Amino acid sequence: MFKALLINKTDDAGYTCALTEVEESQIPGQGDVTVAVEWSTINYKDGLAITGKSPVVRSFPLVPGIDFAGTVTASEHPRWKKGDRVVLNGFGVGESHWGGLAQMARVKGDWLVALPDALSTRDAMAIGTAGYTAMLCVQALQRHWTEAGMDAGSGEVLVTGAGGGVGGVAIALLSAMGHKVVASTGRLEESDYLKSLGAAEVIDRSALSAPGKPMQKERWIGVVDSVGSHTLANACASTRYGGAVAACGLAQGMDFPASVAPFILRGVTLYGIDSVMAPLAKRESAWQQLARDLDRGKLEAITQEVSLAEALTAGPAILAGQVRGRLVVNVN
Ligand code: NDP
Repeated sequence: MFKALLINKTDDAGYTCALTEVEESQIPGQGDVTVAVEWSTINYKDGLAITGKSPVVRSFPLVPGIDFAGTVTASEHPRWKKGDRVVLNGFGVGESHWGGLAQMARVKGDWLVALPDALSTRDAMAIGTAGYTAMLCVQALQRHWTEAGMDAGSGEVLVTGAGGGVGGVAIALLSAMGHKVVASTGRLEESDYLKSLGAAEVIDRSALSAPGKPMQKERWIGVVDSVGSHTLANACASTRYGGAVAACGLAQGMDFPASVAPFILRGVTLYGIDSVMAPLAKRESAWQQLARDLDRGKLEAITQEVSLAEALTAGPAILAGQVRGRLVVNVN
């Protein structure tokens, strides 16, 4: 038996998520590696799954949790053996396959990434899918800047949704690379926190979240956007000639009410960032760079620890924008 959050949907009880005990034999699917989960996390998508606010869960009953880190206890997969330390992000885990908000998981070995030696399983989940996605965004911008001949001296970088998980890790990474980072937030009271992560300036997100002109004053050489909607449109409209925007989220909305003007008149590039189905090579590269470049003191400042039971109330909190940084879940 092991402890897990379990989501159910029945005619009588409706959509429920509860802390429960399940048996290993109850785990459905064709997983070939069993992992003793040590840490998991609450991402925005986990909030949607726990609350049922959006139909991210596609089969019932299901254990939520789009990521976890732990140690392999049994494997029929050639790449993995008992004792290996692994991290998992996405691949539909916590959506259509039983996920990481549990003490045990069984998943396909092809989905797992070896945890770099320099990261503990707790570090890995403090980073979590949000931080790994921030790294994918930053890597896309880094490749772009190299090709475009831009560097940290070329101009400012905007990070939207700065108070959230993607935003916090993006600020820490970009500032450590020497960039002047401007953090956009709806929580100006968190300005000291955002500056402690490396933001040079903090702006009110209302400056970006309302409909704006198709072309605005050129400001950013790059943007990490986890917000979407008008914020993404305005970010593109104020990106400098030849700069780039990495779009990964939809905290404001899924819409993109923009014009093509920044792309065809300023050569701005919009990179779409997906962490869920990213190929293994990209995952490994992102985790290696996180292990090397992410300041552990800043990671700790971003992170709050909760129990599996507390994860239930964290779900609605993250959707309400009340969570600062990252929530790491101690499943044991
Ligand atoms: P968080 O909830 O931790 O952060 C989102 C932040 O967005 C909030 O903290 C808030 O920051 C800001 N925000 C919330 N609501 C609004 C709003 N209405 N208008 C403007 N800003 C808002 O989530 P994560 O960092 O975990 O994820 C961020 C986004 O990225 C989500 O949409 C998530 O689904 C997506 N994502 C996508 C991935 C991918 O593979 N593409 C992977 C991981 C995440 P503040 O208070 O500072 O304004």
